[in-house]
Amino acid sequence: MARESKEAKRARAKTVVDALARQMPEAKIELTYGDELQLLVAVMLSAQCTDKLVNTVTPALFARHPTAAHYARSTPALLGEQIRRVGLWRTKAKNLHATMTLLAAEGGTIPRTRAALEELPGVGWKTAGVVANHAFGTPALPVDTHVGRVSRRLGFTAQEDPRKVESDLSLLWPPERWGLAHQLLIWHGRRTCFARKPLCSTCVVAEHCPRKGVKLSG
Ligand code: SF4
Repeated sequence: MARESKEAKRARAKTVVDALARQMPEAKIELTYGDELQLLVAVMLSAQCTDKLVNTVTPALFARHPTAAHYARSTPALLGEQIRRVGLWRTKAKNLHATMTLLAAEGGTIPRTRAALEELPGVGWKTAGVVANHAFGTPALPVDTHVGRVSRRLGFTAQEDPRKVESDLSLLWPPERWGLAHQLLIWHGRRTCFARKPLCSTCVVAEHCPRKGVKLSG
């Protein structure tokens, strides 16, 4: 593909998100949660683990721990027993307990900014972005494995580092569309633009993708 101007790339990015939104109007976060606290816990547990698996563990966990104080009164070992089916459960249980202890000491309120969320144990920039965006409507375009892979294939970034990818992507859409772009790229990566065998022949954005039909390795 000839070198694309910034304007042309932004126009293409708009077309891609519009097409994906038409195809998947139901796209939304696939973690099950009822409030901000449950969202934070679910996103913390979802690192390197499928949402589906997290959703099998959280109903019982949420029922036992309705507030941050309930988690704080537990122990990492007990929490570990309750999330054992989730990958990296030992580390996650430790971080969950430490984060909830901090939040309980502050009255159980969840920080509203991405920067403040990132200060919590076990909460990285991506997790903080997902929570800030879904719980508080803060514009954010967190980059997970799907967002990164699909964005590189679409020629929206050449970066591998998630923060650099996010920085590139944030130039392509206005902030009010960042959350939507994030969600649609995840859904596209989970349903069509698979890591190993992307379904280019049925992809609704194929005509806007420089990687269509090219043998893909990632
Ligand atoms: S054309 Fe293929 S590589 Fe490009 S976005 Fe669609 S599925 Fe992914």
